[in-house]
Amino acid sequence: MVVLLFMLVAIASGLCPDCILHPGDFQSPVNIITEDVVVEHIGRIRWSKGYSRLPESATLTSNGHTVYLEMMSQYPIKITFPLFPVKYEFTQLHFHWGDKVDVGSEHKIDNKSYPIEMHVVHTQTEDPLYPKYIVLGYFLTLTQKTITGLEEIIPAVIPAASKINTPITVKKFRLSKLLCFRPFSYYTYDGSLTTAPYLESVRWIVGKNPLLINRDQLNVFYKAAQIEPEMLNNHRSPQDLKCRRIIFNSL
Ligand SMILES: [Zn+2]
Repeated sequence: MVVLLFMLVAIASGLCPDCILHPGDFQSPVNIITEDVVVEHIGRIRWSKGYSRLPESATLTSNGHTVYLEMMSQYPIKITFPLFPVKYEFTQLHFHWGDKVDVGSEHKIDNKSYPIEMHVVHTQTEDPLYPKYIVLGYFLTLTQKTITGLEEIIPAVIPAASKINTPITVKKFRLSKLLCFRPFSYYTYDGSLTTAPYLESVRWIVGKNPLLINRDQLNVFYKAAQIEPEMLNNHRSPQDLKCRRIIFNSL
């Protein structure tokens, strides 16, 4: 029974049963090698009402390293991940990008980078047994199309980059328009924050299918990095996976 329980915990945490890891071995991002992932049916992420309602306010702020979006809503903006019994509250979303289209994302898929990766950070403080953060990672790929949500954020990127730590008002939009709200295929593993203090208490959920960004929108991020050079190539390199396993939840 104890062995079975251990195996269940190991599977749920994305570790091989005989995997011994130490602090420092759970770093992110990683290069996801698709032929090595373990396919499991974990199930859907559940989204609370706040994702599909207009918020009270939305702002974009630069911390000098990236720009991050915050929202105030009268409805809870929380997700439930099937493996954990606690709810995770939306904290902010931000971006990592490069200086040309073939670099920028932090995670890679079979060594392939995307021009931008968006991180949607969720936090819980209810139960220390579970990761403090769930971060949803979305790749953005270059296309002709525009998507709602990104359209609202883009006009605030340059003003935010020009004034560090000054929130810039963003036209209100429903987060569900931006995020892949319907059930989606994702990779998941245990990792860390990709900026200091690199805290190893993150369950990563990386969407398989990228969201869309057009050339003009991408250029806005490149221009922001010219205004604030700390933003130039604000992506961390892939870290050693060690003996962690990446689980692929297919639809
Ligand atoms: Zn990030």
